[in-house]
Amino acid sequence: MAVDITTDLNAVRNIGIMAHIDAGKTTTTERILFYTGITYKIGEVHDGGATMDWMEQEQERGITITSAATTCWWKKHQINIIDTPGHVDFTVEVERSLRVLDGAVAVFDGVAGVEPQSQTVWRQANKYAVPRMCFVNKLDRTGADFYRVVDSIVQKLNSTPLVLQIPIGAEGDFIGVVDLVEMNAKVWRGETQQGEDYVVEEIPADLADKAAEYREKLVETLAEADDDIMETYLEDGDTFDVPTLKAAIRRATLADKVNPILTGTAFKNKGVQPLLDAIVDYLPSPLDVEGIVGHKPGDEETEILRKPSVDEPLSALAFKIAADPHLGKLTFVRVYSGKLEAGGTVLNSSNGRKERIGKVYQMHANKREEIASVGAGQIVAVMGLKDTRTGHTLADASKPVVLESMTFPAPVISVA
Ligand code: GDP
Repeated sequence: MAVDITTDLNAVRNIGIMAHIDAGKTTTTERILFYTGITYKIGEVHDGGATMDWMEQEQERGITITSAATTCWWKKHQINIIDTPGHVDFTVEVERSLRVLDGAVAVFDGVAGVEPQSQTVWRQANKYAVPRMCFVNKLDRTGADFYRVVDSIVQKLNSTPLVLQIPIGAEGDFIGVVDLVEMNAKVWRGETQQGEDYVVEEIPADLADKAAEYREKLVETLAEADDDIMETYLEDGDTFDVPTLKAAIRRATLADKVNPILTGTAFKNKGVQPLLDAIVDYLPSPLDVEGIVGHKPGDEETEILRKPSVDEPLSALAFKIAADPHLGKLTFVRVYSGKLEAGGTVLNSSNGRKERIGKVYQMHANKREEIASVGAGQIVAVMGLKDTRTGHTLADASKPVVLESMTFPAPVISVA
């Protein structure tokens, strides 16, 4: 049965995963879908699905990323993963995908570090001030060096890194991370092919000094970025509790002043659950973006702001058109304001034509869900649009707005 989706926007994350080819974007995304699939399953049937065999799960759920936008759930948060093209040939496509997401995870190879394509996409993301985290992947590989990759992130990307974890062990002996926010160790013991969770332990004695050094760096970097933290730090030193620190990391990340850095090996299932937690904790919800600025149809000089609320007039941007083997042509749209309703009529304000919205779907890793209506902040696939191309705006006919200018690319999103 079709459902209405006007979720609490605070619980939504529209994110992209960006990477140089081969850094592990596909593997990281698949592991995210695997772990979020487990929670989905447990929540649904209470059958202890988490202990199911990895391959069985994978086959049963048909885990693949075939969609321009895939929705999953993690700890009561809805994460929409928007496919960000890794190749640089289609700059407009990359920029358009950067527009429809609110935050991103940049995946780096633990051996190769920052590679040329990552630099290009990173620069494009700078243009839109997209809040970003980094995941240093492939720490199990021979020659992997977390600290060298962090250096290359500083040197080549001119970023202010906020190291939230340091690795425990190296290469084949990489077993977990020291969490510098909670000041504990998260360790994956034994075989991780079954997708089991980490165990929380004390920080290993041989890493105590390094952990203290990096904790100090973390707090000092945050203090530079955040006046509240600076004030307390100068008066009382590092007496921060976990919620205070997390809130400050979130503020500094959303302001695009720092990039939190996490690490692990997606392939060996180490580090992905803390990455999901960090996506929820530190990347923006659609409400963290003030709104989107468009313009009056036919008049690029007159700007119009649409806020992320279902009470505003509809505005939505078509960002990808795909051919689905079962459904035919699907148009992926991000709804910025108002509501999009199946069966309704809207104006394509980019070409002036009326469009009827056929069916509306939310795409999951292994299924699609038909929905009756969808609110601001969401990303869905629409069936039945005839004359809508990528970059076109769908709007309320009585209060039209055009979101993408004829001279796109140009940065238009401002973060609160
Ligand atoms: P993408 O091109 O960025 O999507 O990269 P893929 O996810 O396809 O990974 C490229 C290759 O690296 C594949 O052969 C993966 O199995 C491998 N790979 C991905 N993550 C890891 C990892 O954490 N450790 C190791 N050793 N290999 C990995």
